[in-house]
Amino acid sequence: MSLSLLNTDFDGTTRGLGAVRELRKGELVLKVPRNALMTTKSMIAKDEKLRNGVEDAVWTTEKAIAKSQSEWNEAGALMKELDLKPKFQSFQAWLWASAIATEANRCSLLPHDHYWISSKRIVTPDGLISGSVEVKGGLIVSVVKEADWHKKQRSRVKVIDYGEAVVMPGLVDVHAHLDDPGRSEWEGFPSGTKAAAAGGITTLVDMPLNSCPSTVSPETLKLKIEAAKNRIHVDVGFWGGLVPDNALNSSSLESLLDAGVLGLKSFMCPSGINDFPMTNITHIKEGLSVLAKYRRPLLVHAEIEKDLETIDGSDNDPRSYLTYLKTRPTSWEEGAIRNLLSVTENTRTGGSAEGAHVHIVHLSDASSSLDLIKEAKRKGDSVTVETCPHYLAFSAEEIPKGDTRFKCSPPIRDAANREKLWEAMMEGDIDMLSSDHSPTEPELKLLSDGNFLKAWGGISSLQFVLPVTWSYGQKYGVTLEQVASWWSDRPSKLAGLHSKGAIAVGKHADIVVWEPEIDFDLDEDHPIHFKHPSISAYLGRRLSGKVVSTFVRGNLVFGEGKHASDACGSLLLAT
Ligand SMILES: [Zn+2]
Repeated sequence: MSLSLLNTDFDGTTRGLGAVRELRKGELVLKVPRNALMTTKSMIAKDEKLRNGVEDAVWTTEKAIAKSQSEWNEAGALMKELDLKPKFQSFQAWLWASAIATEANRCSLLPHDHYWISSKRIVTPDGLISGSVEVKGGLIVSVVKEADWHKKQRSRVKVIDYGEAVVMPGLVDVHAHLDDPGRSEWEGFPSGTKAAAAGGITTLVDMPLNSCPSTVSPETLKLKIEAAKNRIHVDVGFWGGLVPDNALNSSSLESLLDAGVLGLKSFMCPSGINDFPMTNITHIKEGLSVLAKYRRPLLVHAEIEKDLETIDGSDNDPRSYLTYLKTRPTSWEEGAIRNLLSVTENTRTGGSAEGAHVHIVHLSDASSSLDLIKEAKRKGDSVTVETCPHYLAFSAEEIPKGDTRFKCSPPIRDAANREKLWEAMMEGDIDMLSSDHSPTEPELKLLSDGNFLKAWGGISSLQFVLPVTWSYGQKYGVTLEQVASWWSDRPSKLAGLHSKGAIAVGKHADIVVWEPEIDFDLDEDHPIHFKHPSISAYLGRRLSGKVVSTFVRGNLVFGEGKHASDACGSLLLAT
């Protein structure tokens, strides 16, 4: 007898005999749920009785269509004739069991808990290797070079061979605004995390503002957690807000930290959101002393409002990007950073805030501001700095008149500054990258009006940060190891997520597989998963680097352009 299993969509577990589509002399064809095919195969292999009855199993991926009662009856009669019923009954029980197991695995496009990923280019902490990564129970359980692999691999474990595609730790984006709850019409957890998964981001840390309310207390954190539950396709953690209300009240700050935020974020200038007021240096100093006990970081938006040199009336067109640029000069960044670094010496070994850490977000000014940061690091202050892909991709000169998609703060500066930012990336003076994905509704971007002074500031980029970093970094000789360092290793350490950020034994199996050599046009035909693609400054660009697959804790959450049906990302709360 030969046995065929049809790879089909199984729509229930109560079909009974309906699982038999066709039964002829010497051939049994069964409907098996697509996701349960492998499980079924291994169950058959384990069952001696059935294995002996099946001389030649045929596995097919044809689509089974029979559903009618008459076909089922016919199948039943034939089974009786061939005396297959006892075997089939036990087989049926397995089908049910595996179908139930499949229910639980709607989190993954891959029906395996244990498998190998092979590639010629795997980015590990020890460099690029050709080899394989073993994933089991959501964790990386071994990483082996090609030469040693064949000895190790067990025959029945699934192997996914990605050939030349790059296998890299999933990106950890420590700066994203998903605006949920309260402003989910701007983005929201479902669309934001779908975009993340499609872009190779496996962990993101959500900012405490632009949602409503802002995350500044245990109660408001609870609202975030409720909004995120069962709606996130990648892992998500939260920053809390350091605001005047809680900064000078250590018990309220402690209760926020106890509730699980990974660290705090504050603004040295107005944030643009009413329930997220700015902090002064006293607030920051107090905040750091509390954070020191928790060993969690403070992220700072470092711009400080200063009087502007009078803008020449003749060149004051609000549709001109240069007008906006003049309203947020580099002296604002420099002034804030100088002020901020006056308290970071406390973070040095033996200092009053030892254990606290200051992280400057989205640095734009690569001149005096960066020099100050370098000097503080040299002195031993616990300080890091990030910039964002849009500062590395764009320059002020090329921003078209009225194209407010490019408005963000601090602003994108001139091409010479961009060169210096790249230099600082390559030298290691800027530690990491983040998206600062900060969307809004298209109406607030004032695209038709083009008024840079009134439009919402924020760049929509979440899904594209990997190809953008890679594409624009080609000119500077960016390596795959650098990309992994900027996007995975360092951000995971900043957020205290020590089970993330590397392809190494014991870490979560958070993996992106991508093809750096594949180019694509970011046009209307490109599937974009964040909520408002039209406001993205990257539309119309040609990029290199296509994300093939994204795994989060071993679940294939994105592959071949599709997402797993359920949102099974985990919440990352500090303990
Ligand atoms: Zn931001």
